[in-house]
Amino acid sequence: MKVIVQPQKGTYKLLFVEEGRVRGSGFVNLTATPKGQRPKNFKVRRRGKQLKPTPTRDLITLLRRSSVHLAGESPEFESFLADLQIPASRIDICRFCQLEDRFTPVDKATGVRYGGEWICLECAKREMRHELGYMGRFGGSVLVHLEKLLMQVRDLDRVLASVGPDKIDRSRTLFDRLEAHEVQKTAHITDLALPPAFAKASGVEYLMPVQQLAVQDGLLEGQHLLVVSATASGKTFIGEMAGMKNFLEGRGRMLFLVPLVALANQKYQRFRDRYGHLMRVTLQTGVSRLNLPETRPAGERDI
Ligand SMILES: [Zn+2]
Repeated sequence: MKVIVQPQKGTYKLLFVEEGRVRGSGFVNLTATPKGQRPKNFKVRRRGKQLKPTPTRDLITLLRRSSVHLAGESPEFESFLADLQIPASRIDICRFCQLEDRFTPVDKATGVRYGGEWICLECAKREMRHELGYMGRFGGSVLVHLEKLLMQVRDLDRVLASVGPDKIDRSRTLFDRLEAHEVQKTAHITDLALPPAFAKASGVEYLMPVQQLAVQDGLLEGQHLLVVSATASGKTFIGEMAGMKNFLEGRGRMLFLVPLVALANQKYQRFRDRYGHLMRVTLQTGVSRLNLPETRPAGERDI
């Protein structure tokens, strides 16, 4: 038999495990005596029964006959075992399973980090669904994706933070980082395949580096691009080049979305001032049915 000792506040929970299944549980306290740590208030519960006070010598007999594993640090319990010359080893078990008298050993390969502890994958999935329930409505495909992510990163705190950050912590969502590469020379606006009327109205002469990269990656050949770049590095104009080219060459309209009303006003002014003679510029504000967080840092997401 295995005895798993879980140090808890002021007491020790014991799980009696046979063939991987919990056959009973119990509690014991330790008290310091001149001879060292000694057990007291030993109580045992067999499956489905009440806790029953049990003589502490039964505990000692049990410990001697079993392999003893400590699920947590306890110098007191270790010294008590050492006095009795009972060997013990350390084990990590799922704390959630343990609360329900289930025994599930976990390690780096099988466990999931949660609040500074290891829990088993099944408990982590259940806890994740529970937590997501508090955050709002998530569709089935989000759940499938998050479960995959959970199995990959093995850290429930990080997975939950990716859908509902308390505060923005980029280290949690940072997936990859591309180092800035040097752009030696940027093109003159008139050298690009842009309608001359737009090039003239834009007021731009040479491209900024991120704009040059976007053009090199096919911006003017109809490629879809996701551009993430610092504030004031020229993202808006990337959108302008693609959108205005399409519009002036007769391919549809241009829709420019921004997350803040103040920003929408600012962009509206700019578009109207620059391109008002080339196109009809209209402004629509309001949050309608988009479920946006209430506050967002200004100026960081204008594309
Ligand atoms: Zn578990």
